[in-house]
Amino acid sequence: MDPIAIDTDVLVVGSGAAGLYAAIEAARAGAAVFIADRSLIGRGGATVMAQMTVAAALGEEVPDDPRAHFADTIAAGRGLCDEKLAQLLCEEAPDCIRELDGWGVGWARRNGHIAATTAPGHDRPRCVYVDFINTGPAVSKTLRKEIARKAAIRKAGDLCIVDLVVRDGEVAGAVGYHVGSGAPVTIAAKATVLATGGLTRMFRRNSASANMGGDGYALALRAGCTLIDMEFVQFFPIGHLAPRLVGMDPIMWDPFRYKLGGRLLNGSMEEFTSTYGSDEDGKYVLPRDLATYAIVKEVEAGRGSPHGGAYLSFQHCSAQSLRSAFGPVIDRLAANHIDLTTMPVEVAPIAHYHMGGVKADATMATELPGLFVAGEVVGGTNGANRLSGNAITEALVFGRRAGKSAAARVKQAARRQVRPQDAAAALDLVRADTSEKASNTAANTAAMIARLQSIMADDVGPFRTGIKLRRALAAIAELAGELGDRPPRRAAAFDLERLEWFDLRNMLTVARAVAAAAEQRTESRGAHQREDFPHSLPHWRLHQSVTMKSGELIIAHPPLEGEGRTAEGSSGWGASAAPLSPPPGPLTRADLPPPGGGDAKANV
Ligand SMILES: Cc1cc2nc3c(=O)[nH]c(=O)nc-3n(C[C@H](O)[C@H](O)[C@H](O)COP(=O)(O)OP(=O)(O)OC[C@H]3O[C@@H](n4cnc5c(N)ncnc54)[C@H](O)[C@@H]3O)c2cc1C
Repeated sequence: MDPIAIDTDVLVVGSGAAGLYAAIEAARAGAAVFIADRSLIGRGGATVMAQMTVAAALGEEVPDDPRAHFADTIAAGRGLCDEKLAQLLCEEAPDCIRELDGWGVGWARRNGHIAATTAPGHDRPRCVYVDFINTGPAVSKTLRKEIARKAAIRKAGDLCIVDLVVRDGEVAGAVGYHVGSGAPVTIAAKATVLATGGLTRMFRRNSASANMGGDGYALALRAGCTLIDMEFVQFFPIGHLAPRLVGMDPIMWDPFRYKLGGRLLNGSMEEFTSTYGSDEDGKYVLPRDLATYAIVKEVEAGRGSPHGGAYLSFQHCSAQSLRSAFGPVIDRLAANHIDLTTMPVEVAPIAHYHMGGVKADATMATELPGLFVAGEVVGGTNGANRLSGNAITEALVFGRRAGKSAAARVKQAARRQVRPQDAAAALDLVRADTSEKASNTAANTAAMIARLQSIMADDVGPFRTGIKLRRALAAIAELAGELGDRPPRRAAAFDLERLEWFDLRNMLTVARAVAAAAEQRTESRGAHQREDFPHSLPHWRLHQSVTMKSGELIIAHPPLEGEGRTAEGSSGWGASAAPLSPPPGPLTRADLPPPGGGDAKANV
């Protein structure tokens, strides 16, 4: 079948907050834009599921300054943030928030000011929200509305991008297929923005949608980009564990902790976080990496809750305060036989966000001309641990930047075509017909995804060892062997098994990148905790990079102190990455204005 051929100035892959904002900005700058999403436009990834907070130093209720936001972001990142990107995130966040306000997103207000709440790791109330449940949907709806107003933006849902097209060392568009018909599609573009979101679907317990298997990282790697910080997967500490709760988001407890605090208790009903360096005392202050650490360690010590987590209790709160904080959610909980006045719930860490990703400069350009990135797929901004609320912010800020940069390239670049030879390998896969081969029908892709999720959860989860990580790498390689090099059957409408084959192709590559980078980092830092190397080591304050050569992954970092320039093992160590810049002098906490009001909390 001949591919459906699309031609545009800017191709945006992914329609979360990052992709939608990129499209709006590129169209505003005069470019013709095409948005492709493997799901429904604006409804497929993390943005539409995000419930709560967006960090921005607006300073409407208490004095604030992007430099204070920056200092907190850097502190949370455990010395590994890409400081240039983190600075941009903090500096440009207020402007994006106000623009969304002008578009009618409906930020919550108090006394006429946009209201902000304090989230863990922020030194003052800095996180804006719509109503603690609908922030993500409201952001997505607002951006979708703006898209609909722009005639220069075309869009297609159910269009799964399978590979980027690289022509003469530059990205010239992409190849995909329409899930609803199986039809192959080529898209020629002068500039491409990758905004495909994160990878947490690879883990057994996760907060992800089915579209968050890390496609963008794999696409970028195969095209020739560098990934950085792939070992840093953020686990959200208080994902719902028990009792059974139908129809609710697993991270639903977060907004109520913002409102009411809540007590984290071990299996003996004792508060325990003070043992791990921070006394929450009923409040909500512990950053995600430390809270995850504390819960997992209690469980390991035999002090967990019955299902292997911790209790979260609101029993100290009155029925009235619960009703006013939880609203109709109280009724949903009652329908699941949960009465918070008389019982705690059980919570445990779930994979939630990825700090690593595609290496980009301040214009969101990757190393490949013609390719820009935005949102969660970008690596390095949040270092080893992300601050609450920074993820939607980075999607907005980097989306807008990427759209602007892509439109600027359009003005200079000649029209691009996807020549048959540039797209041949990807089209070959999309059009593959293996219906005659018995071996390909044997692979149960759903079961393989479940196996991968178990491998990642058990051996590449919050606590890692060299032995576990090497075991994971071997198991991932085994799965890759089982997957084979062609999808099952022939292209057809809504063939989910075939879609899962393409998912697995990406997930296995990305899982390998995460596990291999984690195996090489012989220290503990932020979200990456090695039981065999429990300390954070100053000489490891550097980024590792992941590249692909002839299908093999190369993990590299600048030489460690005393390591010299020789490669270690067969993985190409000591190769390319630049050392981190020293912490910026002018942006220390000492230079910042003190937080106003009595709401400010110590940074932890
Ligand atoms: C349940 C949940 C709650 C969260 N709550 C918060 C919060 O309160 N505050 C906060 O700051 N952050 C939160 N986060 C994180 C935050 O929502 C995300 O980091 C952010 O929304 C990512 O935006 P994005 O545009 O980069 O990606 P996404 O919103 O994930 O969008 C990516 C899009 O790319 C599409 N896509 C992927 N692969 C392909 C492909 N191959 N071809 C075509 N399309 C593709 C997907 O379908 C999807 O629509 C939360 C995350 C989750 C999962």
